[in-house]
Amino acid sequence: MRIFIACLGTETNTFSPLPTGLATYQETGLFHGDATHRPATFFSDPLHVWRSEAEAAGHTVIEGLCAFAQPAGRTIRRVYEDLRDELLGALKAALPVDIVLINMHGAMAAEGYDDCEGDLLERARAIVGPGVVIGGELDLHCHLTEKMRRSATVLHTYKEYPHTDVRARAHDLFRLCRDAAEGRTRPVMAMRPCRMISMWRTSNPPIARFVAAMKAREGKDGILAVSFGHGFPWGDVPDVGAKVLVVADGDAAKADALAAELAAELWRERETMRPETLSIDAALDQAIAAPRGPVVLADVADNAGGGAPSDATFVLERILARKITNVVSGLYWDPVAVRFCEEAGEGATLDLRVGGKCGPDSGKPVDLRATVRRIVPEAMQTFGTSKNGIGTAVWITASGIDLVLNTVRTQIFHPDAFTQLGIDPGRVKIIVVKSTQHFYAGFAPIAAEVLYVSAPGAITPDFAAIPYRIFTAPYWPKVADPWAAAR
Ligand SMILES: [Zn+2]
Repeated sequence: MRIFIACLGTETNTFSPLPTGLATYQETGLFHGDATHRPATFFSDPLHVWRSEAEAAGHTVIEGLCAFAQPAGRTIRRVYEDLRDELLGALKAALPVDIVLINMHGAMAAEGYDDCEGDLLERARAIVGPGVVIGGELDLHCHLTEKMRRSATVLHTYKEYPHTDVRARAHDLFRLCRDAAEGRTRPVMAMRPCRMISMWRTSNPPIARFVAAMKAREGKDGILAVSFGHGFPWGDVPDVGAKVLVVADGDAAKADALAAELAAELWRERETMRPETLSIDAALDQAIAAPRGPVVLADVADNAGGGAPSDATFVLERILARKITNVVSGLYWDPVAVRFCEEAGEGATLDLRVGGKCGPDSGKPVDLRATVRRIVPEAMQTFGTSKNGIGTAVWITASGIDLVLNTVRTQIFHPDAFTQLGIDPGRVKIIVVKSTQHFYAGFAPIAAEVLYVSAPGAITPDFAAIPYRIFTAPYWPKVADPWAAAR
């Protein structure tokens, strides 16, 4: 068989002040057909899986574009169209193909496009025709749309948040698409909306049980795959919101019945599955009172992975105002402050303005008398099995706390973002991470406790208050019963 593989994606926060242009794709990962000949990143990992699976079975792989951007605002129209057309041009040139496998995010929006994945899949379908299998792997924070469902043969989302199962789902998708291309199955997809906008952390027991139940349904009774698309709350597009998607073998009614059953279960369990967050001061109080550290505080509202700037100072300001010490915090995206530190050099003490630079959601800049402890160019951090660049990283100490500043905007995934600079985060009382949930896999093993903080910021977790303009349908928790409101 001839198998075409590619990747195009980002998670678009339509409220973010940061535009997404070509430079963000270049910085995060932009490869023109050779991504699998380079080390795997979070975004290219599925392509590595597909190539090795295909080649092990003697199939021919044709690799196209692999482009991913760190989440921010809408992608610039010309940039999206150029990337899309490069991917589709390579697909056209690769014909005839038996299978098309595309790694996407699922919540990508560009200027003039609310549903980039639907647009991409619809055009890919027009190129290959109705008989070719098209499979899409998606982040679970996706806006599943009717256009996507109609255009693809199989869509399959991650099941875990933190996303520790990117490779496992890539293996699943390969198998599902191979079986369909070889005529052993005839996938049909059904999708049901949940009318909910929230976050579901799969480290939370009620959701972990739901994930296990989804997995238990797969591979028997004619059910091929089950996905729970959590949705991405900060994308103001018509299709935002949680949805269940089921792939069945030839039986659309069976797929729809299971999707409806699982959507109803999520609705029933909405309160037990609701993510808990604390105010900044309540979280700091609880961390100080804890018998031992480190207590990890997640500043969920300033997660670059959700399109936030990662330079917000709301938590830092309270730590300084309360004179709390024995704290390490990162990553602060502040190329200007990093430049100051590079000029002054390791060991220097200087006046340094940190954070608060990107807009109102970043808070006020904080002025510190800081000592530059260590500078590491081309610093990396681990996520799953992949290594991801964080740019130049600088460890500074000021007012009894340690901060890490960096030049490539990204959330923090792993303690090695601190340890490679010489900081031992296991020895402090409080670790403040700018991340919503991906930090959990790396930090939970060293944490005495994990607390989620609801600070102001670009992706503040007050789901009822998100100022949607394009999305107008009723949803929980903004209304108690969106089903009745929709009638
Ligand atoms: Zn995600």
